[in-house]
Amino acid sequence: MRKTIWIAPLLLLVPMLATAQQTERVDLNAIHRIKDEALGRDSKVMDHMFYLTDVHGPRLTDSKGYREAGEWAVERLKQYGLSNVHLEKWGPFGKSWNLEYYSGHMLAPMYQPIIAMPVAWTPGTNGVVTGEPLLVAAQTQEELDKFKGKLAGKIVLITAPRELQMVTTPLGVRYSDPELAELSTAQIQVPGLFGGRGGRGGRGGRGGIPGGLTPQAIQTFLKAEKPALVIQESTIGDGGNLFGGGQSRDANDNLPTLVMAAEHYNRIARLLEHQIPVKLQFEVKASFDDNVDSFNVIAEIPGTTKKDELVMVGGHFDSWHYGTGATDNGAGSAIAMEVMRVLKTLDFKMDRTVRMALWGGEEQGLLGSRAYVKEHFADPATMKPTAEHAKVAGYFNIDNGTGKIRGVYLQGNDMVRPIFEQWLAPFRDMGANTLTSRNTGGTDHLSFDAVGLPGFQFIQDPMDYGTRTHHSTMDVYDRIQATDLMQMSAIESSFVYLTAVRPEKLPRKPLPPPQPAGGRGGRGGRGN
Ligand SMILES: [Zn+2]
Repeated sequence: MRKTIWIAPLLLLVPMLATAQQTERVDLNAIHRIKDEALGRDSKVMDHMFYLTDVHGPRLTDSKGYREAGEWAVERLKQYGLSNVHLEKWGPFGKSWNLEYYSGHMLAPMYQPIIAMPVAWTPGTNGVVTGEPLLVAAQTQEELDKFKGKLAGKIVLITAPRELQMVTTPLGVRYSDPELAELSTAQIQVPGLFGGRGGRGGRGGRGGIPGGLTPQAIQTFLKAEKPALVIQESTIGDGGNLFGGGQSRDANDNLPTLVMAAEHYNRIARLLEHQIPVKLQFEVKASFDDNVDSFNVIAEIPGTTKKDELVMVGGHFDSWHYGTGATDNGAGSAIAMEVMRVLKTLDFKMDRTVRMALWGGEEQGLLGSRAYVKEHFADPATMKPTAEHAKVAGYFNIDNGTGKIRGVYLQGNDMVRPIFEQWLAPFRDMGANTLTSRNTGGTDHLSFDAVGLPGFQFIQDPMDYGTRTHHSTMDVYDRIQATDLMQMSAIESSFVYLTAVRPEKLPRKPLPPPQPAGGRGGRGGRGN
């Protein structure tokens, strides 16, 4: 008797559980075929990588490499039989910049070729610049002012030398199980604290000066002084690798500026501190053109029964110019192209249209995706959705380097959790089974999220992204892990396919209130 008393409530629970977790129709036959195409010898993802990096890289927005890579992508996507393949103009971006030549040498006290790179949008030097450098390294405005009237025509070492520590931790890492478990726990945030943002958080500190002297104050000072060349030490990294960014795209008074590998910068600084004469020689050639508009790369597979509804997949196409833009973000671009190739090759009949978009100007603040979302879906400033806004089923983005997918950032959208849990199940044995309600920032899914569209970035293994490749001279083809890219291609293809054939569009968070300029989408500042 006692037993039946206990069993009855349990039986009542069963139908309740079944409704709480709606069963998704995951076509395992289709997933099997996707795996076969994306993971096998038919994979083309590393071939896309080769053309994006070795042949056409780097792809600084609107540079020669960016434009050539765009033309190449259009050609290839057309070869695959994709529809509506085109370069979609957006703008204005600002002047396009090409580095044409760099040469750097220490001539005295000993000869040494110098590892350095011009920062983006730097003008060329006025011919060959030879001279004794001046170590400024000011921490305060007062220290900087001591150099007033002394820098014209000089080679200026602007940053303080950085003491290098021995690296005792691995350069590249994957997420451990405890780290993924921690990531999957809910994080309740108090609005207003640290901007209320979760995820990876800011990279802060890069280029910060302890004495409170801002980079802007230094630039203003230098522009008044007019040195022949400004040299910064790479703020992170060592072993000859260097990391950098860019100057203003629109200013006409940028100074020729280099970022130098730490070991070489430090040698010069030590010699100067010992009053041993140093002679350096540099030459930089750069070209600008005033074609200020840029483009995103678009391609489609038309849907069948819901042709006007959209699943989008993408990542940013642009890179910095220090390496060839392999992990940032040749990887996400190559994978998005591969997703389109796989789905087209398998000739699935998908209800919704699948649209790939490779974005420009991400590194300067998600510019390409924000312009696209504003034009097609909604302007975050007014938050008045277009007719097309209602038709978007979901957007998937890859932009965290070469590490394989470990799960998905739900971006605070708990409604997709039971769906993605079932979609990830066929990839559990490939290490992808973590869902976190947390947000991740700094990349193009934010442009969609900012106007209430379900946009997602996958959780990826960190690898050597933060230590070696992100915005560095060593962001090159060799740092790409082929099997990781194949795994990502299979999972992203599968997510795009399942979104395209799902009876309903993915659930959405409520439409956010209007965000005045510089709001949500803009908070990320410069991209990842
Ligand atoms: Zn990126």
